[in-house]
Amino acid sequence: MSSMKTVNEIRRAPAPHWVGDGFPVRTVFAAHSGEAAAISPFLMLDYAGPHDFPPSEDGRPRGVDEHPHRGFETVTIVYQGEIEHRDSSGNSGKIGPGDVQWMTAASGVVHEEKHGTAFTQRGGTLEMIQLWVNLPAREKMSKPRYQEILSAAIPNVPLAGDAGSVRVIAGAFDNHRGPATTVTPMDVWDIRMCRGGSASFQLPNGANAIVLPLVGRAVVNGSDVNQHECAMLGRDGETLEINATDADATILLLSGQPIDEPVVAQGPFVMNTADEIRQAIQDYRGGRMGSLAAKA
Ligand code: MN
Repeated sequence: MSSMKTVNEIRRAPAPHWVGDGFPVRTVFAAHSGEAAAISPFLMLDYAGPHDFPPSEDGRPRGVDEHPHRGFETVTIVYQGEIEHRDSSGNSGKIGPGDVQWMTAASGVVHEEKHGTAFTQRGGTLEMIQLWVNLPAREKMSKPRYQEILSAAIPNVPLAGDAGSVRVIAGAFDNHRGPATTVTPMDVWDIRMCRGGSASFQLPNGANAIVLPLVGRAVVNGSDVNQHECAMLGRDGETLEINATDADATILLLSGQPIDEPVVAQGPFVMNTADEIRQAIQDYRGGRMGSLAAKA
């Protein structure tokens, strides 16, 4: 007999702030504010938009200029719009609606994140998520790597009773495995539910779980979760019941085995000790995380 996971907290929708000149984000949760154990292996989630950008006057893409990361992964999920990026290990790419970029910064990456060139020129609606995923200590200084996951590679699995569908980005749902390679076990599911639909999900006992309605609202194990609020569920139990009460809903579900190690987070670096943060700052300033090639 499986037991229901308990909703520990409904997090209110935070006010938006700008990241660079391209990303009006709500920081839904952040290890930087001292709640690492409840959200591990996740560290931070910024939900950007939906925000309408006019066509650019000067053709210069909005976004975030060159900056470093060390010790974790950045996962960018695009719902609307287009993002281009390039990094110090020579990777670059463009992702659009339904696509995901899963960047393992590990020992260190310097990158920029911008609106796509075509999106910049024609303008439009931007809606995306950036999720930070922690790495265990043994992997924090491994070689950076990068997964570009296009929408077509993500299984879209129907829910029973025409309740909706689940795009399995990472982990597995109903025997469909998502394409993302993860370092520790986790599920990242982009769930679409029809108005009035209900569904039951089984997650591992011991995993933290977070449910975030981006569009519409939901009842999660009996608790109301409004748009842009976030349900934080405890580690015990396996079952998650989600009902889309009064409208179609787009829901992000995150679940993962916690990494129970110390988290010391400072800006773009997330390590295990303050010494490792000081080292990261020195390595970045010393150019040892690389730099971006000048744009042609
Ligand atoms: Mn970044």
